[in-house]
Amino acid sequence: MEVSVSDDRPSFQTTLLHHDYQAPDGFGAFPQAIHHASTVLFDSVAAMRARNWQNKSGYTYGLHGTPTTFTLEARLAAIENGRHCRLAPSGLAAIAMVNFALLKTGDDVLLPDNVYGPSRELGNWLTQDYGITARYYDPLIGDGIGALIRPNTRLVWTEAPGSVSMEVPDLRAICAAAHAKNVPVALDNTWSAGIALPAFDLGADIVMQALTKYQSGGSDVLMGAVITNNDELNHKLESAHMRLGFGVGADDCYLVLRNLPTLKLRFEAHDAAAREVAAWLKQRPEIDTVLHPALPGCPGHALWKRDFSGAGGLFSVLFDARYTEEQTDRFVDALKLFGIGFSWGGAHSLCVPYRMKSMRESWPHRGQLVRFNIGLEDTRDLIADIEQALGQL
Ligand SMILES: *Cc1c(COP(=O)(O)O)cnc(C)c1O
Repeated sequence: MEVSVSDDRPSFQTTLLHHDYQAPDGFGAFPQAIHHASTVLFDSVAAMRARNWQNKSGYTYGLHGTPTTFTLEARLAAIENGRHCRLAPSGLAAIAMVNFALLKTGDDVLLPDNVYGPSRELGNWLTQDYGITARYYDPLIGDGIGALIRPNTRLVWTEAPGSVSMEVPDLRAICAAAHAKNVPVALDNTWSAGIALPAFDLGADIVMQALTKYQSGGSDVLMGAVITNNDELNHKLESAHMRLGFGVGADDCYLVLRNLPTLKLRFEAHDAAAREVAAWLKQRPEIDTVLHPALPGCPGHALWKRDFSGAGGLFSVLFDARYTEEQTDRFVDALKLFGIGFSWGGAHSLCVPYRMKSMRESWPHRGQLVRFNIGLEDTRDLIADIEQALGQL
């Protein structure tokens, strides 16, 4: 049916789209509002032409920021004691943002040999197809990193502790040696959630977080963040963020914002539970070494004591060398309360075996490595579960 527009009112169809109602200002509530937008409206063409997508003084396009993303960025920067933050659609995307911001053809980047696997994959890809050299260093190298730096080295990556094998690097020494040669240092600070390691105080120039882990806490969000205090680096990061089109969904931001108030409490609960389970594993005859930074025997334990104020819920064990991969796989399969799957930082305990020799340039150990993410189950139940699974070896 045609609705004729006899008076000044627009047609029914148009009223479905355009309306004048404005809810009153002054609505107060704890949750951050969720702003969904691709198009951001300008008041005038002049305002549109004057837009500046780089300094976050206003809004230009949903991809470059909304009140929801700006709020999450500001809160994450505050957690790390940083000034600038940009979100990315995953932790790996955040790593890519740093690489694309700082590296170009002909440049060199140093990564620890224990680096997060997909970051290594990206480094190898840059080497193979983009004319950048990614080289891997002993994570315990300390100030020896200085001797590896070449005139074309533009970035040193660190990870504290290293994914899976858990070595704690001497971040202070690495940063001092890199800075002496004017090379910035980026730290993957995911394990400490940004609350147990003062990365900028120790000299890091850029901090990367996989928010997928503790900040989300729900095993339901993929997101990353890059944080810095350095205006010049921030400008490069902002440019990479814009050029790569690294937008994040407003609902996902909301989930992270909703879980930030409990970040420290959850982290401390994971920490206490993981140390209890790790200490129990340490006295088991099946286990050769517990690779938990807070326990003696983990490479870099003294540095953990010097630099960290807490520990994450993620650690690994090396089984005694008499056990084959088949046996330790049977152990993992026998666990009832531990899911088998990647990622961590959620409420549920997880367990994953790793083939270390295929992941590293250098790996001296013979025993099988199995990684645990200790969730929020009662530790007595977790230990009983591990005990029965050890019986299946
Ligand atoms: C999970 C993780 C990442 C990547 O995060 P995604 O969101 O899964 O891409 C990077 N670094 C570390 C140390 C991680 O644990």
